[in-house]
Amino acid sequence: MALLRPSSKSGIGMTSSRTRDRMLTRLREQGIKDELVLSAMGEIPRHIFVDEALSIRAYEDVSLPIGFGQTISQPYIVARMTEVLRNGGALGKVLEIGTGCGYQTAVLSKIADEVFSLERIRPLVMKARSHLRTLKCSNIKLDHADGSIGLSAYAPFHGIIVTAAASHIPEELLAQLAVGGRLVIPVGTTSQTLYLIERTTSEFKQTKLETVKFVPLLGGTTA
Ligand code: SAH
Repeated sequence: MALLRPSSKSGIGMTSSRTRDRMLTRLREQGIKDELVLSAMGEIPRHIFVDEALSIRAYEDVSLPIGFGQTISQPYIVARMTEVLRNGGALGKVLEIGTGCGYQTAVLSKIADEVFSLERIRPLVMKARSHLRTLKCSNIKLDHADGSIGLSAYAPFHGIIVTAAASHIPEELLAQLAVGGRLVIPVGTTSQTLYLIERTTSEFKQTKLETVKFVPLLGGTTA
């Protein structure tokens, strides 16, 4: 007789909704207040975005390797960036730069009307595509492209979120931001700071948020 074993990918045990609830409690303690962001992160099974051997650690507040020298951002940073991007309002069209495994993309898909996400490493685009297909997220368009120049064909965006650290804020991204739109971007090399840029009718207002640690935003694409 075959024994039924809890599989780490099946939502049982360490990857259950109770584990996600514990993550939400921790996020609240860390200062995340946006209930829409918290409920999106409570719904999305983060463990399917990492390799099975790491799925037991998927809900810890750490970044984890996703292959190709890249990482999935820690839950706090995903929540914080999404909360800042949304600012309590409705998000129409959003551009994400640095899809990675697609976890942040999935969170955005619950909050925004339409999500465009660009990734420069082709096998990661494939991985993200397969994860997002499993979750049946239908309002996402992924592309294998250098996101540092944005996606002018679909601009302007109400929100732009960059999940890799830039050496400076790319002009192209500012140009593709709608009036009233918000750009959240880590900037720096050895030490990095998260910035919020708000476009008004007359200016780009810049606010320094907090110290962060991201993989670098690189130019070009890899096959
Ligand atoms: N958003 C992810 C974070 C992935 S790590 C999450 O949910 O956890 C950052 C990703 O940015 C890496 O996969 C890296 O390959 C990608 N990246 C770096 N420079 C890029 C560029 N210019 N265009 C597109 N993607 C880029």
